[in-house]
Amino acid sequence: MQPPVPSLSLCGMAIAICGALAETPYARGEWVDQRTVDVFEIRAEFPLDDEAGQSLLGEFRRLRSDVESTLGIEATDDPIEVNLFANRRNYQKYLSVRVPEGASRVALFVKGSDRGRVYVYRHQGYEVDVRHECTHALLHNSFPYVPLWLDEGFAEYFEVPAPQRATGHSHLGSVHRAMFLRWDPSLSKLESRHDLNEMSGSDYRDSWAWVHYLLHGPIESRQVLSNYLYDIRIGNPAGMLSERLAQEVPGVRSQMTRHFQNLK
Ligand SMILES: [Zn+2]
Repeated sequence: MQPPVPSLSLCGMAIAICGALAETPYARGEWVDQRTVDVFEIRAEFPLDDEAGQSLLGEFRRLRSDVESTLGIEATDDPIEVNLFANRRNYQKYLSVRVPEGASRVALFVKGSDRGRVYVYRHQGYEVDVRHECTHALLHNSFPYVPLWLDEGFAEYFEVPAPQRATGHSHLGSVHRAMFLRWDPSLSKLESRHDLNEMSGSDYRDSWAWVHYLLHGPIESRQVLSNYLYDIRIGNPAGMLSERLAQEVPGVRSQMTRHFQNLK
């Protein structure tokens, strides 16, 4: 079963590719470092043995267990290829012949039929892109499909270092500012988005906000999420999470607002 195919993103991308990507030789900027860390098969245009590289490798060691323990799931051992480029020019050149529709993106996740592939180039703070795109890859290794808003909400949630996930994401301040202006994070509106082209910056923030509420809010809401993920996983018709929440968590919208008021 295939989900609606998302195609573009502000901060990354998850697209489904039918068939394995042709693995043509990489003529320029040969990989200078290649490592396997957990399920991640990493190849980089720059050495990873310096302090920054070692720090990044530590993120790869932690990310799968973070996602598994937070969501209460077990991801598969299917390998995820991670391609790290020295600069944007090399990234775009590489993608222009393989995934041309993604070459203009800041970072990319491609769901291939053989494996997931992540493409990121080195720049200030690129670790965020690595965690974001690798979260997409882990989710798509764990579920037959992931609703677009939830896919992006989880990726936004896990993109910051673990100690910042509960209270340190910049979206939190944005939510507080939006609350002054009658914030309306309609989940059914987010669920109507089926293409990343339709996702605005505030949609990303609001997807993150729902994920944050579901993970850190009342136990009843978390249980609804857990049941929803379970149904997706085993192939039960999952329907809309908004409808489940409306049925099972009375006053969920006001609960969500209170959740963020309490985080001030
Ligand atoms: Zn994304």
